[in-house]
Amino acid sequence: MKIIRSIRQMSKISDGIRRKSKTLGFVPTMGALHEGHLSLIRRAGKENNFVAVSIFVNPAQFGPEEDFKRYPRDLNNDARLCRRGGVDFIFYPQAKNMYPPGYKTYIEVGQLSRVLCGKFRPGHFKGVTTIVAKLFNIVAPTTAYFGQKDAQQAIIIKKMVEDLNIPVEIKIMPTIRDKDGLALSSRNIYLSPRERTQARVLFHVLSLAKNLIRKGEKRSSEVIRKMEELINKQKDTRLQYVAIVDIEGLKPIQKIRGKVLIALAVYIGKTRLIDNIIVN
Ligand code: AMP
Repeated sequence: MKIIRSIRQMSKISDGIRRKSKTLGFVPTMGALHEGHLSLIRRAGKENNFVAVSIFVNPAQFGPEEDFKRYPRDLNNDARLCRRGGVDFIFYPQAKNMYPPGYKTYIEVGQLSRVLCGKFRPGHFKGVTTIVAKLFNIVAPTTAYFGQKDAQQAIIIKKMVEDLNIPVEIKIMPTIRDKDGLALSSRNIYLSPRERTQARVLFHVLSLAKNLIRKGEKRSSEVIRKMEELINKQKDTRLQYVAIVDIEGLKPIQKIRGKVLIALAVYIGKTRLIDNIIVN
């Protein structure tokens, strides 16, 4: 496994792979890797001749009050996990090379980036789509793998690739969860033991919603009301939003029919966690 810091070198390697008509699977990450990332890596390995993982804590997607500075970083451990996971290349660029002085260009996927999380994290998805487009240009993978854990992000990236004719296939893989249902996230390490227990509420209310719908509830407002009620009951827990939307346009749905995305963001103490499920 090689750790590549240079943009030029990464592009050269990718060129070489393409010239030999081999495939390159790509998993973009911010590091602090866990089983969720590893599931994407394993899938990329199964479906491609080579696997590249990028590790880059992208300053452009953090708001001024957000956790950019304290976001967990541990290249040694990440490299160990990648090596074990069969990764061929870690692309580990520096911010000063990705955004050199005078950097100007940003990509925004319209309304999709302003709803749900976008409403509360202005500029976040603009930062995400910009870095992912840059990474796609540098790594030029055959296929890129994203987690449903960040459903809005995955949907936005799919749309960007379609709109800009970027020749990368996008695959969205299921959310990996702890035994008690909490979606794995690099941010879970911020939680105290007590908060870690409280964090179960996210999956709990999503499961509640699923059951209500399975039992025939069609009114989104009613499902949302019951979810909110449960979250508001718990101490030190603050709901940011819960929404039931269509899975392409992310538009709110009043009457539940077919496939819907139920997404939420909740503060457990000071830590903001997100989760979602698709109910069919
Ligand atoms: P991050 O490092 O948080 O930017 O995540 C990198 C990629 O891993 C994104 O495509 C995420 O959606 C995905 N990912 C993060 N957590 C999980 C999880 N629990 N299950 C599946 N994929 C995940």
